[in-house]
Amino acid sequence: MNNQIETGNYDENYSRARYQDEFIMTKPKSSEASNCDENCSSCSSAKATQSPKGLPPKAKIDVKHVILVLSGKGGVGKSTVAVNLAFALSNHGRNTGLLDLDFHGPSIPKMLGIEGQTPSVLDKTLEPIHVTGTLAVMSIAFLLPDVTSPVIWRGPMKMVAIQQFLEEVNWGPLDYLIVDLPPGTGDEALTIAQLAPNLSGAVIVTTPQDVAVLDAVKAIKFIEQLEMPVIGVIENMSGMICPHCGDTIDLFGTGGGEKAAHDYRVPYLGAIPLDPAMVKAGDEGRPYILRHADTQAWKAVDLVMENVVRRVES
Ligand code: ADP
Repeated sequence: MNNQIETGNYDENYSRARYQDEFIMTKPKSSEASNCDENCSSCSSAKATQSPKGLPPKAKIDVKHVILVLSGKGGVGKSTVAVNLAFALSNHGRNTGLLDLDFHGPSIPKMLGIEGQTPSVLDKTLEPIHVTGTLAVMSIAFLLPDVTSPVIWRGPMKMVAIQQFLEEVNWGPLDYLIVDLPPGTGDEALTIAQLAPNLSGAVIVTTPQDVAVLDAVKAIKFIEQLEMPVIGVIENMSGMICPHCGDTIDLFGTGGGEKAAHDYRVPYLGAIPLDPAMVKAGDEGRPYILRHADTQAWKAVDLVMENVVRRVES
């Protein structure tokens, strides 16, 4: 962590603003960030984290499996899947970390009802927010002055922040680290792919329409170019079960994600229908999977999560 931090002991009065200032916002210095020409070879902060061959070394974190959750587009349910997957794993008794790397739109704390919490600092290490005994969460949202504060960073700052989120958070020994990435194939995904050890692969979330599937295919190709396994594709918002008659309404169509998985020879993990209760669950800060309702939509989510767990554990 930044060596400007003088105290190594737990400090209850360590304010969010001061922490934010010292932990990430000053690394690299704002003058460097504003001079960033996207050329890492001219950046002292990038050089500091690079190995002689130019690739940064793997972060020192005790984790058995790192799973990336990715989508080609925003709004397709990527964070919803990340939250429910992390909960499903934690419910299976796995020590699970959930890392929100969607710096510009961090929604994990809101979806878990832990918005507004401030991580404590112990011996220059950040304590993640514990949701259950086996589920810990870290997000930039915990370090911002308020929920409407934007994060305005160029690539090198994100890289330093990601490294700190891996190495300077007291995750403890983890079975799984689930990483919620921003939509698309940008810096955050590249950096975590370089820094995270024991990468099991990526889960790609899409909705069924052609415009979303096209971007999901880009995400599949991106992961393959990084020589990482695609754990599978999830088709979210796949039809909607009418709450009155029980029939399926084809709001965005169905089958686009399954076809893309088939065409690009990657596993298909299943379909999750649109369910207004899922929006409510996200807004109210409780994972949908915790609802023990006997609805078709809930069964579908449960099945998809079981498929992911089975695939990564087999
Ligand atoms: P992304 O991370 O891809 O931007 P989110 O997970 O934030 O997408 O989801 C966007 C919105 O859609 C949220 O309000 C979420 O609750 C809702 N949502 C996601 N999946 C479903 C679904 N299957 N049915 C209904 N609402 C959903």
